[in-house]
Amino acid sequence: MSETSATFKAKSTVKSADLDHRQKINFNIARYNAVVPQGKHQFADVHLARERAKNVKWKAIETLDQQLEAFEKNFTRNGGKLLWAADAQEALDQVLEICREKNCKTIVKSKSMVTEEIHLNPFLEKNNIESVETDLGEYIQQLDGEAPYHIVTPAMHKSKEDVAKLFAEKLGTDPKLSPEELTLVAREKLREKYVQAEVGITGANFIISDTGSIAVTENEGNARLSSAFPKTHIAIVGIEKMIPSLTDLGLFWPLLATYGTGQKITVYNTIISGPKQANETDGPEEMYVILLDNGRTNIIGNAKQRESLYCIRCGACLNACPVYKNIGGHSYGATYSGPIGSVITPHLQGMPEYKHLSYASSLCGNCTEVCAVKINLHELLLENRNEAVETGSSSFGEKIAWKMWKRASLNRGMMNMSNGKMKNWFINKVFTGWKKHRSELHFSQKTFNEMWKERFKK
Ligand code: SF4
Repeated sequence: MSETSATFKAKSTVKSADLDHRQKINFNIARYNAVVPQGKHQFADVHLARERAKNVKWKAIETLDQQLEAFEKNFTRNGGKLLWAADAQEALDQVLEICREKNCKTIVKSKSMVTEEIHLNPFLEKNNIESVETDLGEYIQQLDGEAPYHIVTPAMHKSKEDVAKLFAEKLGTDPKLSPEELTLVAREKLREKYVQAEVGITGANFIISDTGSIAVTENEGNARLSSAFPKTHIAIVGIEKMIPSLTDLGLFWPLLATYGTGQKITVYNTIISGPKQANETDGPEEMYVILLDNGRTNIIGNAKQRESLYCIRCGACLNACPVYKNIGGHSYGATYSGPIGSVITPHLQGMPEYKHLSYASSLCGNCTEVCAVKINLHELLLENRNEAVETGSSSFGEKIAWKMWKRASLNRGMMNMSNGKMKNWFINKVFTGWKKHRSELHFSQKTFNEMWKERFKK
């Protein structure tokens, strides 16, 4: 068993027994479930909208090389500077080089899963650059020294009392502050940072090839401040965030809002096409986009898994997943958690170390049902399991056990050899590894042949 798998099992075991955690998650997901149906009412046919979005992403990913070239051409024509990063280290080095050039001491950063993926904050800290998270949920997580718990709602596992206690410990505020008062405290602290920061870093929800723009969606206005206040703006984006045309936003913005938070449209949707122009008063003097691969081309090269790149990171599959709701976001030990994380992480970070995530699913298919862009998530999880076996990532013991199982189940004589009681004993007492993290198997007391005979007699 890999170390990552052992850690996953240990953390999941603890979390699934934590009733306080379960109560907080159920509370927050119930609020989400209450508003999403309202958001869906804006679509005349929500299934058609999802199907169309899937088709647009299909086109974007199938022609990604051309779309990326068009994006580069259009973005640089707008005055932006484009950098290509094959992996996390290259992206980190590029950020550091820009920061050194600008003599940067402080960065304001808006929520971005890609920057979590490349572990940007610890890297900057090591290089004596302060990086301040400006999204309230991320700010809370940064204060607590924790990674985001959820791709849309980073502090979903914390109650308002938890946050008040955290602020009291870290910022010396009254532990009885209300959510509104806590927000004001964060706002006051962050305003100072916007003024100080030499560089602002954001991600992007979409990159748009026909105009050479990025689109950023948020509810707090912090991404706008992070991208427009400092003199230099760096956007770090995964190459799969591509959409072919600006007009596609008319479909993707409402879809992302509804499936992400149940809103009709997110409060702030910003299209940024380059640095401040000569006739403009706001915006950065310089703008960089770092296009990150970091394993995404592995997925493009895999025809069956390619559709996982259509993901718009709405988080709906996490909220719908019975496994996620029990073990929580941190147990996965990966940047992307929940069903989509279990699909892509083995391809981004290595099948041997992360194949176990593909087994963290009941295959109920709820994730596929709710996916904003109709990705066949549960089938991709099965496909991952298949690939893990095909590429030799399964253990010797597992292979032997399945061989024996196959042999027995294909042999009627062997299946009829003992009664249900014996079978239960054999499987549950001999294959203890199976039972360790699962409930016991219970065989029928009668064999199939016995039941068939009884029915035939009638
Ligand atoms: S896989 Fe689908 S449901 Fe899950 S985050 Fe991505 S778009 Fe949303």
